[in-house]
Amino acid sequence: MCWERAKSFVNVRCEGLEPWQLIALTVASTLAALWLHGFLFQAESLTSRMKKKFFKLLRKTPFVGTVIQKKIDEALVDITSSLSFLRDEKDYIKALPELGMSQSEVLEKMKEYSSKGDIRWEEGKVSGTVYSGEEKLTRLLVRVYEEFAWSNPLHPDIFPGLRKMEAEVVRIACTLFNGGPNSCGAVTSGGTESILMACKAYRDLAYEKGIRRPEMLVPMSAHAAFDKAAHYFGLKMVQIPLTKSMEVDVQAMRKAISKNTALLVCSAPQFPHGIMDPIEDVAKLAVEYKIPFHVDACLGGFLIAFMEKAGFPLKHRFDFRVKGVTSISADTHKYGYAPKGSSVVLYSDKTYRSYQYFVAPDWQGGIYASPTIAGSRPGGIIAACWATLMHIGESGYVEATKRIITTTRYLELELRKIDSIFIFGKPEVSVLSIGSDTFDIYRLSNFLSAKGWNLNILQFPPSIHLCITQLHTRPGVADHFLKDVKHGVEEIMKDVHAKTTGMGAIYGMAQSIPDRSLVAEISLAFLDGLYSTDAPCSDKHMNGSPSHR
Ligand SMILES: *Cc1c(COP(=O)(O)O)cnc(C)c1O
Repeated sequence: MCWERAKSFVNVRCEGLEPWQLIALTVASTLAALWLHGFLFQAESLTSRMKKKFFKLLRKTPFVGTVIQKKIDEALVDITSSLSFLRDEKDYIKALPELGMSQSEVLEKMKEYSSKGDIRWEEGKVSGTVYSGEEKLTRLLVRVYEEFAWSNPLHPDIFPGLRKMEAEVVRIACTLFNGGPNSCGAVTSGGTESILMACKAYRDLAYEKGIRRPEMLVPMSAHAAFDKAAHYFGLKMVQIPLTKSMEVDVQAMRKAISKNTALLVCSAPQFPHGIMDPIEDVAKLAVEYKIPFHVDACLGGFLIAFMEKAGFPLKHRFDFRVKGVTSISADTHKYGYAPKGSSVVLYSDKTYRSYQYFVAPDWQGGIYASPTIAGSRPGGIIAACWATLMHIGESGYVEATKRIITTTRYLELELRKIDSIFIFGKPEVSVLSIGSDTFDIYRLSNFLSAKGWNLNILQFPPSIHLCITQLHTRPGVADHFLKDVKHGVEEIMKDVHAKTTGMGAIYGMAQSIPDRSLVAEISLAFLDGLYSTDAPCSDKHMNGSPSHR
């Protein structure tokens, strides 16, 4: 008998041990097992933690550590000196003016600030960022903001009209994405908050189901807001690789599903390459394994909803008509053309939304119930968002979508004709991501920057993208872009292996550093820089390398 043999095996080993020793051994080994379990299974994988530890030790090593620190300092000087908005600033105001300025003085001072910068976004030189920029709309928004400047949806009794507007914005969005009678949602301050809210809701739902370490399965291409959600809410993020066409790999997603999976994620489209994830296929997994499924349509939500009517039907469905899709985020402040500070998160059912809410029933300040992250919120922005939807209307959105997609398809066709560069995947919406197997694509980015363009720089793999907005649909802009790209490629091909300089070199280097904590450290210094109110120190004050510029 196996059992008998096991018993005698243990008994023989314990012979001669006193009872207190048996107890002490049992307690000690239980504690050790608990510790080991806690050490092995954390939100961050063991290999990732080991790697960090290794690099941390490396930086403490006498010689190597100094070299690394020197490299960081050099990189910091390089970066701050490449960023004109940090480099050129001085004369900071550091305290309240003793006497308030007159209105005309303030306005004059304001002009000084609003005229800073030399990137001409009004001329369509910038990727994404400003999605409409139309002057007539600006004037309407200012009028509406004026009317609601002091309002706050935290007080619906005082501003009942604002409550109605917000509810209508959500309902309109539900209708756009074909939500059923139980569909619902909330207005948030932007795409990031919409994503945070969905992740938070599904985390709490997972907790309730008894999942103690909720995980989310997120495509590599998904927005960094999901990383932020993982960071803020203690979720484990499992990154799912992409196929060659830059869509999330559905088989890999299936394999990653476990008893801890709290949500699945797809993007419609994803930010880096503008590719629509295979939402219908992932939705099947969501249904099969009964897992909530978030579709991030922050970027393109207000385009894809109009594609069919604009004459560009998408290959696959993406909204609440797909069984299994339980939530959608869509930014009114992107292709919804509303001013920055508004987005919607939508759910297929009210049950999900209730997990998003926060309630503090015992607060001394009163029973406190709040739908999203912020407490007080800017009513003026919500009113302006509502006004934008009203003013543009379905016909306006269809028209805008038609123009944007027509321009994108034209640019894609022409860019594909240029040798030595390629477009990633088959973008169906408004983002074109350019790569090259022949030369360092960041050199093209540098070239275009010098011509006044401002594209997004992407990594892993290196590429640059243009997110086409209404500003790029103005006459001549697309052709101007194509002309500059062609010219740039010609110039670069004259010396294929020339060294990449400037910002392109910094990005290239950042990607080649195995210790990602160094990149993070430099990024933190960048964030510090944003709050700097000191004129940049001259080079000789920094790490004693006056030759460095
Ligand atoms: C812009 C964007 C977001 C959210 O961005 P915010 O800047 O917070 O509005 C989320 N997902 C995608 C795909 C995006 O492009």
